[in-house]
Amino acid sequence: MRTDPDRPASSAPWPTWVHAPVRAAIEGTGVRELWTHQRHVADLAHEGVDVGICTGTASGKSLAYLLPVLSALSEGVSAPTGRGATAIYLAPTKALGADQEARIASYAIPGIRAATLDGDTPTDERRWIREHAHLVLTNPDLLHHTLLPQHERWASFLRRLRYVVVDESHVYKGVFGAHVALILRRLQRIAARYSASPTFVLASATSAAPSEQLGRLVGRPVQVVDEDGSPHGATTYALWEPGSAPSDPTGESRRSAVAESADLMTALVRRGVQTLTFARSRVGVEVVAEMTRAALGSDGSTVAAYRGGYLPEERRELEAALRSGALRGLAATNALELGIDISGLDAVVMAGWPGTVASFRQQAGRAGRGAAPSLVVMVAADDPLDTFVTHHPAAIFDRPVEQAVCDPANPYVLAPHLAAAAAELPVTVADSAYFGDDMVGLLAALVARGVLRRRPRGWFWAREDRPADHFSLRGSGEDVVRIVETRTARVLGTVDGARSHTTVHTGAVYTHQGAPFVVTALDLDDGSAHVVPGDPGWSTMARSVSSFDIVSSHRHEVWGDCELHFGTIRVRSQVTSFLRRLPSGEVLGEHPLDLPERELVTRGVWWTMPESVALATGLDPADLPGALHAAEHASIGMLPLVAQSDRWDIGGVSTALHPDTGVPTVVVYDGHPGGAGFTERAYAAARTWLAATRSAIADCSCAHGCPSCVQSPKCGNGNEPLDKPGAVLLLDRLLRDAPVDGEG
Ligand SMILES: [Zn+2]
Ligand SMILES: [Zn+2]
Repeated sequence: MRTDPDRPASSAPWPTWVHAPVRAAIEGTGVRELWTHQRHVADLAHEGVDVGICTGTASGKSLAYLLPVLSALSEGVSAPTGRGATAIYLAPTKALGADQEARIASYAIPGIRAATLDGDTPTDERRWIREHAHLVLTNPDLLHHTLLPQHERWASFLRRLRYVVVDESHVYKGVFGAHVALILRRLQRIAARYSASPTFVLASATSAAPSEQLGRLVGRPVQVVDEDGSPHGATTYALWEPGSAPSDPTGESRRSAVAESADLMTALVRRGVQTLTFARSRVGVEVVAEMTRAALGSDGSTVAAYRGGYLPEERRELEAALRSGALRGLAATNALELGIDISGLDAVVMAGWPGTVASFRQQAGRAGRGAAPSLVVMVAADDPLDTFVTHHPAAIFDRPVEQAVCDPANPYVLAPHLAAAAAELPVTVADSAYFGDDMVGLLAALVARGVLRRRPRGWFWAREDRPADHFSLRGSGEDVVRIVETRTARVLGTVDGARSHTTVHTGAVYTHQGAPFVVTALDLDDGSAHVVPGDPGWSTMARSVSSFDIVSSHRHEVWGDCELHFGTIRVRSQVTSFLRRLPSGEVLGEHPLDLPERELVTRGVWWTMPESVALATGLDPADLPGALHAAEHASIGMLPLVAQSDRWDIGGVSTALHPDTGVPTVVVYDGHPGGAGFTERAYAAARTWLAATRSAIADCSCAHGCPSCVQSPKCGNGNEPLDKPGAVLLLDRLLRDAPVDGEG
C-alpha cells in the first residue's frame, strides 16, 4: 500500500500572443486560466521549439498544444488566401481523431476549418480538404500511403505547414515506431521542399521524461515538459497477490486475477465506489463484468463491459452514463486507453499487471475526481513481471517509466522508406541528415536490386508501381499470412510470416478478437490460413527446435568470468509438431507438422558463463540446461521492465554448449528482422534487467517453477527442462561481477 498526497493546482495566466478570437472561444467553454504545464508547452511551441508534453491522464494536454496551433491558424485566416497557416494532427486511432475534431468544433473559432482525413474519406472531400482545410486530423498510414506520395497535390497545404501534432506518441514503439519515425522524417523532407519547417508537438501519456525516445521519433532534439500543474486528489495504491486456487491441491497456481478483480469490483460498487476494471483480454473483460453483475444481483445492471469497435454515439452514451453516475462499474481492456474519454472514477482495478509502468500510470490516471481521494488496486496474474512488481513496488513508484524504444536505423525498415522517399522526390546525399549515415549504402543495395536508379541528380524510383504499397507499417517488411474463413472466404486478418508457423499451423486453435477458430489448412505458397469458427474444447501449443549463430558482436562487457554481448545473430527455427491440451492442462496428443525451417537475422543480447563457473555454484551438471532455460524464460518475461516490449516481440534460445562461444550461452532477441530496439535497450540496462529477473524467480512462492516465474506460454519445448533453483544460482553468479548500468 502506498498513498500519493494530493497535488494542488498550479495555474498561469494566458500568454499575450494567443490570437484574440481563439482566447475568446476557449474562454467561452469555461476555461478561465491555464495550468502551468499548459502555458509552458504552449510558449515553447509558439517559439518554434519541438516539444513533448508528458503529463498525466486528464491533465489538459490537448489545450496545451491546441493554443499555439489554433492561434497560428486563426491568424492565418486573414491572409489573402484565407489560409496563412496549416497544421497536421496525427492520432493512432480514429476515435481519438474524432474526439479532437469534436473538441475543436465545439470552440467554434471563426474561419477555422478542421477536417478528418482517413481511408474512408471520399475523393471530393479529399480535394476540399487539400484546398481549404487549416487543420487535417489524420494518421501515419495516411501520410505514408496518400499525402506524401501525392505531395504535389498538397503543395498549397504543405507550403503553409506550421505545426505537426503527434498525439499518444508513446504507442509508436518497436517496429511500428521505427516506421512512424521514418514517415515523420519523410514529412520533414517533403515540407522542406516547399520551404516549410513545421514545429513538432508530441503528447505522451507517460509521465517520465522520455526526451531521448521522442527525439528518436522526430529525428531531432525535443524539449520535454513533465511537471503537471493540474490538481489531483490523494491516490492510494495497493498491489495484491491472490492466494492459491482452491481447486489446486499443490498450491502452485494462484487464484485467477480476473476472478479476484471481479470480487473487488463487486465489493467496491456495493460501497458506492464507482470503479473501472481493466483486464488484459476481451474474454477477461466479459468474465469480470459477468461475475460482478451476478454477484450484485438486482444492482447488476449498473455494471457494463466495454467492447472495442463501438460507434461514436455508443461511446458517448457510455461516457455520459459514467459521468452521471448511472453506471457504477465498467470493465474494459486497455484498448480503452485510446478510444474513450473517461476519467474521474473513484477506483481503478487492474486484473493483471498492464505490461509496463507507462500503462500502469495511464490506467491509474483514470482514478481521481478533482480533490477527492481515489484508489488503485493491481491484482497480480500468473506472470514473472506481476510477481516482481508486487514484491518490488519501488519498480513502479520510484523509477522512471521504461523507455518506449524504436530503431529507425534498422535496415529492414529503413530501406523500403528510402525507396518510398525516392519516389516522392529524388534522394540526394544531403538527405542523410534525415535518414542517417547508413543511407548511401542502402541506396546502393536498392539500385543493385533494380528498385532505384542512380542519376546525377540523385536516386530515383525505377519502377512503375508505388513503393508505399509494397510494405506494411505494422509488419516487419516480410511475408504475411492472411486468415481466411473457409465458409465465407472472408479475410479476418493477417499474421506476420514469422509468427504464422507457431500460431496458424494446420490444426491450430487460433483466437481472433476473442473468438476461437480452428485452422483447417495453412497454405504457405498462397500465404493463407483457412479457418472455421468454433471452440473444439482444447488449445494447441506449437513445438519447435531453435538454434542461433552469432553473426557479429557489436558491443560487449566482461563481467568477471562471464561476458555480456549485444550484436547481430541468425536464429533458425522449425516448428515440428503441436500439442492439444485440455483446459486442465492434460495433453490429448502430439501431432507432427511438416513445415520448413525459418531464418531470422536480428539483434540480440547474450550472456555466456564457462561451464566450470556454472557448476562451481553447486549446480548439478544434469540441471544446467534447465537452469539456463529457466533463466532465459524469466528474462524474456522481465524485459518489459526496461523496454516497452511485448513478450511476443521477443524470443530466446539457451544452450549448455554453443558452437560459436564454446560455453553455456543464453540469448534473448528481437523477434523482427533487423531488430526492433528492445534488446539494444536490454543491453544498456542489463544489470537492472537481470537482477529483476533473478528476484522474480527467487520471490515466487512455488517450489518447482510456475507461470509466475519460469514457465512461458510460448515455449517451443513445452517448458522442458526447467530448473528454478538452478536459474537463481546462475543469475547470482552472473550478477556478482556486473557493473552498475550506464543508464537505468
Ligand atoms: Zn513460480
Ligand atoms: Zn522455452
